[in-house]
Amino acid sequence: MAIPYKVGLTGGIGCGKTTVAKLFEKLGIAIIDADDISHQLTLPGTPALDEIKATFGTEVFDSSNELNRKALRDKVFKDRTSRKKLEAILHPKVFESIEKKIQDIDTGYCILSIPLLFETDSDDLVDTILVIDCKEELQLERILSRDGITPVIATGIISNQVNREERLNKANEIITNNCALESLENQVQKLHEIYTKRSLSNNQIL
Ligand code: ATP
Repeated sequence: MAIPYKVGLTGGIGCGKTTVAKLFEKLGIAIIDADDISHQLTLPGTPALDEIKATFGTEVFDSSNELNRKALRDKVFKDRTSRKKLEAILHPKVFESIEKKIQDIDTGYCILSIPLLFETDSDDLVDTILVIDCKEELQLERILSRDGITPVIATGIISNQVNREERLNKANEIITNNCALESLENQVQKLHEIYTKRSLSNNQIL
């Protein structure tokens, strides 16, 4: 089976990656989502969950022995060493799963939604990089209203990610999400046509 053309979709927290991925999905395109995979890999009974317990102890588990994702997020947010330990447990498993899922794709191109594409040096895994960008004040507004976190936590998460300028410099394509959803849909439609052509021309960038 032909290997699909791989579009790496990334962007800062709350810039609209999930919203854009859903629009590609509506067009029939396969989405592989690193966050979803990471969630699946840490469900009860998984090896990653055992490793998390061995590394971080019961303080990141609730009374029914399930992973307390908020407690874990808070812990790794505050402490770089903990974050690196968690990444060492999860990232190899996530990327192994992504590689397996790519084998099952039967659309000409696929979207690999990888929020930490640059931070994990996984640019090489994809054929092109699509960055979802929005103005910083809008980004903050959207995550505050969606996640109910404090501005301090939100700006802390943003500053732990690659900065906006660096991300935009590394992009092959950019969707600007300062707009209403209809305009987002138009941008997705145009890119869909481009990616379809590229996938037809044997993965060559036109
Ligand atoms: P995360 O990094 O946390 O996974 P994300 O990049 O996937 O976030 P979304 O969840 O798609 O971002 O969007 C963040 C919030 O902003 C959501 O509540 C979404 O509904 C809203 N949003 C995204 N784009 C728009 C838009 N164009 N107009 C209005 N609301 C939007």
